[in-house]
Amino acid sequence: MTAQMSATGSDQNRLESLRGVGPRVAEKLARLGIETVTDLLFHLPLRYEDRTRVVAIGALQPGSQAVIEAEVALSEIAFGRRRSLLCRVSDGTGQLTLRFFHFSAAQKNTLARGTRLRCFGEVRAGRSGLEMVHPEYRLLGESESPPEADALTPVYPATEGVHQLKLRDLTSQALARLADGRLALPELLPDSLRERAGRYSLAAALACVHRPPADADIDALSEGRHPAQQRLAFEELLAHHLSLRRLRSRARSHQAPPLRDRSLMTRLSERLPFALTAAQQRVIDEILTDLADARPMMRLVQGDVGSGKTLVAVAAALAAIGSGWQAALMAPTELLAEQHARNIDGWLRPLGVDTVLIGGRLKGAARSEALSRVAGGRAGMVVGTHALFQDEVSFDRLGLVIVDEQHRFGVHQRLALRQKGMRDGLRPHQLIMTATPIPRTLAMAAYADLDVSVIDELPPGRTPVTTVVVPDSRRDEVVARVHRACRAGRQAYWVCPLVEESEALQCQAAEETAGRLRQALDDVRIGLVHGRMKPDAKEAVMQAFKAGDIDLLVATTVIEVGVDVPNASLMIIDNAERLGLAQLHQLRGRVGRGSAQSSCVLMYHGPLSRNARARLDILRETSDGFRIAQRDLEIRGPGEVLGVRQTGMLQLRVADLERDADIMPDVQQAADVLLAQYPQQAERLVRRWLGHAAQYGEV
Ligand code: ADP
Ligand code: MG
Repeated sequence: MTAQMSATGSDQNRLESLRGVGPRVAEKLARLGIETVTDLLFHLPLRYEDRTRVVAIGALQPGSQAVIEAEVALSEIAFGRRRSLLCRVSDGTGQLTLRFFHFSAAQKNTLARGTRLRCFGEVRAGRSGLEMVHPEYRLLGESESPPEADALTPVYPATEGVHQLKLRDLTSQALARLADGRLALPELLPDSLRERAGRYSLAAALACVHRPPADADIDALSEGRHPAQQRLAFEELLAHHLSLRRLRSRARSHQAPPLRDRSLMTRLSERLPFALTAAQQRVIDEILTDLADARPMMRLVQGDVGSGKTLVAVAAALAAIGSGWQAALMAPTELLAEQHARNIDGWLRPLGVDTVLIGGRLKGAARSEALSRVAGGRAGMVVGTHALFQDEVSFDRLGLVIVDEQHRFGVHQRLALRQKGMRDGLRPHQLIMTATPIPRTLAMAAYADLDVSVIDELPPGRTPVTTVVVPDSRRDEVVARVHRACRAGRQAYWVCPLVEESEALQCQAAEETAGRLRQALDDVRIGLVHGRMKPDAKEAVMQAFKAGDIDLLVATTVIEVGVDVPNASLMIIDNAERLGLAQLHQLRGRVGRGSAQSSCVLMYHGPLSRNARARLDILRETSDGFRIAQRDLEIRGPGEVLGVRQTGMLQLRVADLERDADIMPDVQQAADVLLAQYPQQAERLVRRWLGHAAQYGEV
């Protein structure tokens, strides 16, 4: 699919024309998105290993990969939790432990005291100093041995059955075809844009990035700042940007029902116990203007935790419902969907509007009944999780799709729901809400298909949350503090985040914490909620907490988004150092919703690195979600922050949204030129870089 080749060229572009590729390998390569030889050229190294020089053990940094040369001082089998072969080596500048979990008797014998080795592996800080786990190694003779490599070694994204050596061999063959002209790779950037992209031609840039020459600037390459990488990054960002722009213009070319009713929202506003903030009003106006149009709205609303996004969503929904259409609100968790349904029903019932929750715990007759209310159009407002786009859910007249906390969903989920609502050739409008503020350059790359509104004001009367950072060695003091707060009639959360990668273990940790707290605080009513509980049980606990029948709620991060209990004024977060800043900010946003002075205690398990300490301090210093997100982006990278790494839309091969942010304005201009003057080239660029992911653009 990737590049259209001439008749002779196309043979050279067939994967199976390469040495070492038969149907089985081809199938495995397809898993990496590689279907042609050209695709191989665009399968770029993730990083490089420097095997060009031997590093002294004394100069090793944990986390780095290095080649060392050393002599075995001691070799022994350790019987710990897992039997392993430990091999202590030294080179005169320091000592290092090699650790093998799988080893043979012969291997143990060759690694005897006095043997000289060359090893390559990742250095990490172990219990007794630096170690390498399962390094590659070979024995050295008396004489000097040549270096491992004379240029940086590329490391490719690999898959089972297609390992590094294979990928290196295949890319070498592909590069050879490019070099001698058997394979042609057209420049798709018009001359006027070539200059901006840098002095490398596309072919030269690819050759350099796959096989950096011996004299290449190693530091620049490892940081992705080499001009050859920058040349490719420009093209890649341009391709992504173009695909989103295309998505947008296709979507905007469709028809949507104009939704112009304002009377329901006026009636709701009159009944609310508070006035809308100016920011809410402004964003609602922006939305209503879009909805009045016969083209589908595609708007992203950013608003910090607690800025009142739900009501903005309801205003949009009422415009749809009042105009005779249905609105669907998709939430990222069951818990949040249930809470939304309850709140929204409270607002809409007095207006005579029916709200239906399509949740996981809706079963049997009740479920069929709910589904038929949706299908028959009797339910104006439909709330649910991604279950909303299961086949069994069909809408009568879906006019508006609202996606809450969008960072939890991928782009394609959002598109699927949009397609679902098709009726008489009309597409639903789309509103996306997120509490993750997105820096502008990132928004240009990731959300170029959306208009953006910002709720930049919190409802009045919120007291800022005081945040403290304490080591978990002071747990007793923290428990005492919770005790005092609960005895004074306030409520508290105790969050136990991901300590282990598995959800089961996370829930277990929460159970244990709840158990310990129950022992320590026998006059405090303690509840527990985690992701593995049955929805009914979860819901019952949340209700009890909301009603004030539970004083202290121990939870996993399931309560991260949306949960709203104004009387809760104390938030304890265990192992805070393990969470991202934006996530901590979200969790902290669960308190400070009422008038009581609220506090958040970030408890960490020491020792903290300087970097980790600095991150937690940012939360102490500011409650501005935008600043926090910006710092989070710098520290963790855009994929994590946006949560869309898996979607394919932002799987960048060479570009890095953070590092290359400064090229985005040029990318945007280049996109304007291409779309206006060279639409076919634009199309081919998207296909070259996004391949199958570009199919999202077909929706
Ligand atoms: P988020 O933006 O985090 O989704 P919510 O929509 O959950 O925020 O709103 C947080 C709380 O603020 C809710 O209890 C909501 O009823 C309340 N709220 C929303 N708008 C206002 C307002 N204009 N004045 C006072 N309280 C408001
Ligand atoms: Mg919300």
